[in-house]
Amino acid sequence: MKTIMIDPGHGGSDPGATYKGNEEKNFNLLTALVVRDYLVSNYNVKVLMTRTGDQTLSLSDRCNLANRSNLDFYLSIHHNAGGGTGFESYVYNGSVPTQTLSYQKIIHEEVITAIKPFKVTDRGKKRANFHVLRETKMPSMLVEVLFVDNSKDVALLIDLKFRQAVGFSLAKGVAKALSLPAKESGKKPLFKVIAGSFTERKNAEDRVKELKAASFESFIEREC
Ligand SMILES: [Zn+2]
Repeated sequence: MKTIMIDPGHGGSDPGATYKGNEEKNFNLLTALVVRDYLVSNYNVKVLMTRTGDQTLSLSDRCNLANRSNLDFYLSIHHNAGGGTGFESYVYNGSVPTQTLSYQKIIHEEVITAIKPFKVTDRGKKRANFHVLRETKMPSMLVEVLFVDNSKDVALLIDLKFRQAVGFSLAKGVAKALSLPAKESGKKPLFKVIAGSFTERKNAEDRVKELKAASFESFIEREC
């Protein structure tokens, strides 16, 4: 089973970007929990979190945790600030594991498609020298969902429907990128009784006769 770590950026004494009482760390955690819950409900995957509450964690704490957890993917979730609007994703701007760029493409496109109805700007697939991208050894990606200092973006961030659209699409994108097996929903297993396999049809017919004589319904199925 594949293992993924979701990292809600900042937390505890580090609120991240703040604007008019909106703290980035809270939006990061809310979105991360939606991603985790969607993944564990719909796919066979192990999901680890760097934090599930308002804990303080340094950037190296996060990377150390990731690097000793035998991960297939690390996803850091942030929200932006500084006078812009829209969604962007990042991978490291140095050398990266081979799958990283294709993972970014798949996940980025999944999110953009899902949030298009909310008229969110696509700021693009980017590369940067971010600590958690540089120091994690497995494919890793960081998303900046929307801007906490933009009133139009904040209106979306406080809307559960929007947070679910982002969270579900991040989860679906991760699942698609890593080919996570979907959980079978409500499908019951089927148990078959086999009473013999033969290379000669004659021997199979004899077995059917024996079974019929003992009142067991049976039939021959040809397998090539
Ligand atoms: Zn941040």
